[in-house]
Amino acid sequence: MARRKKIYEGKGKILYEGPEPGTIVQYFKDDATAFNAQKRDVIDGKGVLNNRLSEFFMTGLNNIGVPTHFIRRLNMREQLVRSCEIVPLEIIVRNFAAGSLSTRLGIEEGTPLPRPIVEYCYKDDKLGDPLVTEEHIAAFGWASQQDMDDILSLALRVNDFLSGVMMAVGIRLVDFKIECGRVYDGDFQRLIVADEISPDSCRLWDMETGQKFDKDVFRRDLGNLTDAYTEVARRLGVMPKNTTQMAKPTLIN
Ligand code: 5GP
Repeated sequence: MARRKKIYEGKGKILYEGPEPGTIVQYFKDDATAFNAQKRDVIDGKGVLNNRLSEFFMTGLNNIGVPTHFIRRLNMREQLVRSCEIVPLEIIVRNFAAGSLSTRLGIEEGTPLPRPIVEYCYKDDKLGDPLVTEEHIAAFGWASQQDMDDILSLALRVNDFLSGVMMAVGIRLVDFKIECGRVYDGDFQRLIVADEISPDSCRLWDMETGQKFDKDVFRRDLGNLTDAYTEVARRLGVMPKNTTQMAKPTLIN
């Protein structure tokens, strides 16, 4: 069996060198972390669900012309993605007040926002991903003005797409986080949606009952996380029941 090269291991995923130049294999782990990894656990089946759900959202985005890094799913826990230069920002889009926005501004969770609000956090675990302004981003050279225009446009298009897809299955898209990466085609550089889109990086509430189907279930000890993510997958018709519990493949690093 060939040993493959690990490029990076994060809290929820491992990246391996892909089979062709310019590709990466993204492996979804079952590890769940919150509060900058101060709370952690292993949730059986989470990686399988996030692999499938991220495939579903990224494929949908590719199909409507929003470029993403997703190429194809390889197996239950892995997908082939295009390698890109990650912009060191978390791009957060909010439709309803929740989480850190509610805490910061004292707005009750669930309050509809007058329009989608886009925020940027500097990706740095040691600093706890602090909120930054476009002034910081420009001054420290994390992204150019052209990058920021493209990132804003991508973020709002992802919001339109995801809100619609979730609304169709009775789920409210409260907020989400994406990451963007630069790819180079000859003399041209463009931005694409990278990383993952899954209930780990979104807030998803049932439109009727307000039940949470996202990582807040883990962050706030609200119940079984796998059940919550499975409900999202079931409503979207993404995967049949009971396929998350299959044995994990042995990781070869
Ligand atoms: P908040 O700023 O309220 O904590 O998070 C806003 C949204 O961005 C939520 O949907 C949350 O899940 C997502 N988010 C913020 N930071 C991170 C992060 O470091 N990792 C992930 N997976 N999602 C994040």
